[in-house]
Amino acid sequence: MLPEADSLWLLRLLRDIQLAEFYRPILEALNVTRPEHFDFVRPEDLDGIGMGRPAQRRLVEALKRHRSGLKSKNWVYKILGGFAPGQKESTPPSDSPPSLPEPEGGLKCLIPDGAVCRGELLGSGCFGVVHRGLWTLPSGQSIPVAVKSLRVGPEGPEGTELGDFLREVSVMMNLEHPHVLRLHGLVLGQPLQMVMELAPLGSLHTRLTAPAPTPPLPVALLCLFLRQVAGAMAYLGARGLVHRDLATRNLLLASPRTVKVADFGLVRPLGGARGRYVMGGPRRIPFAWCAPESLRHGAFSSASDVWMFGVTLWEMFSGGEEPWAGVPPYLILQRLEKDRARLPRPPLCSRALYALALRCWAPHPADRPSFSNLEGLLQEAWPPEGRCVRDVTEPGALRMEPGDPITIIEGSASPHSPDSTTWKGQNGRTFKMGNFPASAVTLVDSGGSPASHLLPRGAPARGEHHQGNISGDRAKAKLRDPPPAQGQRRNMALQRSKGISKSLESVLSLGPRPTGGGSSPPELRHARVGPQGAPGLPPRPPVAASSSSQPSQPPRERPPWPKRELPHSQPTGAPGASKATVPSRGPLPDFELQRRITEVELSVHGVTHQECQEALRATGGDVVAAIRNLKVDQLFYLSSWSRADCRRILERYQWDLSAASRYVLARS
Ligand code: ATP
Repeated sequence: MLPEADSLWLLRLLRDIQLAEFYRPILEALNVTRPEHFDFVRPEDLDGIGMGRPAQRRLVEALKRHRSGLKSKNWVYKILGGFAPGQKESTPPSDSPPSLPEPEGGLKCLIPDGAVCRGELLGSGCFGVVHRGLWTLPSGQSIPVAVKSLRVGPEGPEGTELGDFLREVSVMMNLEHPHVLRLHGLVLGQPLQMVMELAPLGSLHTRLTAPAPTPPLPVALLCLFLRQVAGAMAYLGARGLVHRDLATRNLLLASPRTVKVADFGLVRPLGGARGRYVMGGPRRIPFAWCAPESLRHGAFSSASDVWMFGVTLWEMFSGGEEPWAGVPPYLILQRLEKDRARLPRPPLCSRALYALALRCWAPHPADRPSFSNLEGLLQEAWPPEGRCVRDVTEPGALRMEPGDPITIIEGSASPHSPDSTTWKGQNGRTFKMGNFPASAVTLVDSGGSPASHLLPRGAPARGEHHQGNISGDRAKAKLRDPPPAQGQRRNMALQRSKGISKSLESVLSLGPRPTGGGSSPPELRHARVGPQGAPGLPPRPPVAASSSSQPSQPPRERPPWPKRELPHSQPTGAPGASKATVPSRGPLPDFELQRRITEVELSVHGVTHQECQEALRATGGDVVAAIRNLKVDQLFYLSSWSRADCRRILERYQWDLSAASRYVLARS
């Protein structure tokens, strides 16, 4: 029990209104020790301790008087009061009615400490750990729940983690949707605990990456999940909220066919006429899922959530692979904007669905579909279902037996030889995917018409030609090339994940990372950089993004690729780089040029062959100068600093581009 000294005010207040007999029940059953705790007490809770409605009204009045002479310093009150959806980001004025919240606007339930019993650990996140639990209701009935407890350090619950935790509570307590994880209530104990609906099957990411013999998820089910998520996200958008962390790791499986959007720690209210939220400072964000405007300006909106939805779709159809695996975070923006690169079409994803993802990844937020549109568009892109009508045993073809349900993913009919028409699909019995003769399958909804008469031709989906160089190569995969088996894909995914960026991390934590997919470990995600810059560095230039939720300044206009600086005239010394130079006049022999290009390419992550060639041309073949100029360009492109400043920063960091990027990003 909490010390009585903390609750003397309550005893006095109750005595003043002749309700002292409720002191113990309020303290012990409702766990109220501070005036602000009453914000989460519903009339039903007071009914529960036997307080009649007239007495409740007296209590409300007394609290009002008490509060009018009391400026709240309570952290729970300040944060929950300040960030509940639909409220302004300020403490309510002291004369606002301190009424006990109605169930609709208040916390769903304040749960006494002893009513929840924690069990097995389900996982841990950025600011807490999640346990399976059992919640015993006042009726004596017990229901399985998930309990997220705020991690409390030696200094007590302080800082961003507490803010995110309470913000998650304040957001979730107002949400009610079949595909949004439900908050049952809050335990105002030590530690603070969020009692949530249990998703017994865990996260979708874990399911997608489950090793054999767990079968892959059927394509039709993935489409169903997408529709459920689009519905939940449309609901959030309609409530003026932006999620900012939509990813398969944050989709929880409540049942084999029901997915729920969870993890509301990064949710923010959308502000202003432009309906967006601009980050106030460096915070953890899931780089590889983010829209370009979020990476560049910290701007989030429903349209940036739609971008993330596209990445989530990609994750689902690529078996939970990590997006942009192998690309360092500071280059993702460059790939998206400069190279106009997009994630490639996964083999399981039909052209129609991939075209939808590409629409979600439109460079301009206004060109992306809304979530409500997406619900309809998904319906249109739904892969047709068919049924096998004969044994298929031809070599290389997808094995099927009569009666097997087949989801048809792709097809291309030849008008000259309809019998040789080949489709790509997934066998719903074996979960295997591959090509098969169209004549072996009839469409379920078509009254038995052969699939080849009904499906669209295999022309590239709308928008597919916009894909960047990454997608181009893979999208060319021919139908006859069956996709790798799930196990193989997993190995490929793991290989590609080596040394890559993690999904969730601080914008300031851009250095080399350990391997693995999914969420990054908390210690990575907590990385912060101190407010002071490195000594001897140029002062911070005007920032591109505003530090409030107001619209930011327009971005600095940049050419698609910045012009090169003049050749570096000073002696150079980038570690590992060749110091060989050639006279600027007279062409280099081919083999020597190639060698130098390769050297530059290997020294500056993410540059193209052509850029290296140009850089060498501009420096008269000086490899070190070319490397440095390219690094200056990279940093310039990434930040809002001048080229001269970028050069000074790089010099200060001994031309370590990662370290310099961290520095500039911390101050952008
Ligand atoms: P972060 O909160 O830092 O973004 P996270 O989503 O991994 O990261 P949590 O939301 O704290 O962190 O969840 C931790 C783990 O617990 C996750 O693996 C998640 O799958 C699991 N989990 C969370 N909530 C539930 C739930 N309601 N039912 C079942 N498992 C859950």
